[in-house]
Amino acid sequence: MVFSNKKKRNQYKFYFEGSILEEDSNYKYLGIGFNKNLNWDGCRKKRILGGWKGWYALQNRCREAELRNWKASQTLLGLLVLPVILYGCELWASNTSGSQWKQSEQIQKHLITSKFKIKNTVPYEIMLSETGVAPIEAIVMVRLISYLKRIGTMEEGRWSKAVFNDTLCKRKKTWMQQNIKWLSKWNIYLNSCPTNSKEIKAFVMDKFHKWAWGNELARKKKYYITKFNSAYDHHQKAYIRAYISWKAKCIIAQLRTNSHQLHSEIGCWKRPKETWEERVCIFCTSGKVETEKHFILECDVFKDVRDKYNKLLTEGSWYDLFSEDFVERLGPLVSILHRKRADLQKSVRSYVLSHRLC
Ligand SMILES: [Zn+2]
Repeated sequence: MVFSNKKKRNQYKFYFEGSILEEDSNYKYLGIGFNKNLNWDGCRKKRILGGWKGWYALQNRCREAELRNWKASQTLLGLLVLPVILYGCELWASNTSGSQWKQSEQIQKHLITSKFKIKNTVPYEIMLSETGVAPIEAIVMVRLISYLKRIGTMEEGRWSKAVFNDTLCKRKKTWMQQNIKWLSKWNIYLNSCPTNSKEIKAFVMDKFHKWAWGNELARKKKYYITKFNSAYDHHQKAYIRAYISWKAKCIIAQLRTNSHQLHSEIGCWKRPKETWEERVCIFCTSGKVETEKHFILECDVFKDVRDKYNKLLTEGSWYDLFSEDFVERLGPLVSILHRKRADLQKSVRSYVLSHRLC
C-alpha cells in the first residue's frame, strides 16, 4: 500500500524475490481501516454501520425484555453501541466534518426520539438539554484530549511520545494541526485543558453547551428557551428522573418539545396553514389558542380533573410546574388530562362524522 493524496496511479513498483508486489488501496490494521488517500471516509462509514447494527440489536432485546428505563437504555447504548462507533476515534476524529458528525449523532438522536416519542425535527441541542446526554462529538473530544494529555506526561523514549514530538507531526495539514483546528471550533485550547479525565469531561461539556446554545439561539427555537429553559440549563430535567409513570414522562417531554397534538401545533400542519389566532381550543368556549399552558392550566373542560390537584396548581406557577418540587404531582395530572382529551377528541370526531353523513 502506498499512501498518496494524488489521484493518478502509483508509478513505483516494489519487488520481492523477483516478482512485483501487488498494491492494495485499503488495508485493515489493528481493526482500523486505512485507505491510500488517508482520508478516513471508509473507516468512518464502517464504524457508523456497525453502530446501527448494534443499536437495532439492542433495541430488539430491550423490546423483548420490556425495558423502558431511560437510565438503563442510555447506559446500554454507552456500553454496547458507542464503543463500536468510537473505535480508533483518536485517529479519525479531527478529520470529521460537521455533516459527518451529524450522521454518527443519528443513533443517539434515534434513541431519544424513539424512547420519548418526540418528533425527529426537534433540534438536537434541545433533545440533549432535556435528557442531559452528551453528544458523540463531545465524547470523542474528551477521549482525544485525555489521549493527548497522556502522551504529554509519558516518559521520553516511548514510541508514541517519539512520534508526537517528531517535526513531521507538527507540520501543517497533519493530524496534530487538524486536532488543534477541531478543538478551536469550540474555543478549546490544549494548554488550558485540565488533565484529570473527569474534569476534562465537565470542561468539554461546558464548552459544547456554550457553543450549541449560542448557535441555537441565533438560529431558532427561542420559544423553548423562554418557556421551558430560561436558565439555559443543560442538565437532565427533573421529570426524567422523577417517580412517575413512563407514559407521563413521555407526555411531559412531548409538551416541552412541541411534539404534542394540541391545536397550537397541528394548526401549522393544515393546508392552508392556520394562523396563530385560528388555532383555538375546540373543547371550550373561551376562544383561546390551545397552547400547552391552556391545556394544563386554563381549559374549562378539564376543570374537574384539575380541581383534584388544586394545591399543585395554585402553588406552582407555569414555570415551576416542571421543577423538581412539582413534577411528581404533575405526572399523574398530565396523564389524566391527556386521556380525557383523547376521549373528548374521539367523541367530537364521531359527532362531526355522523352530522356529515346526515
Ligand atoms: Zn379550552
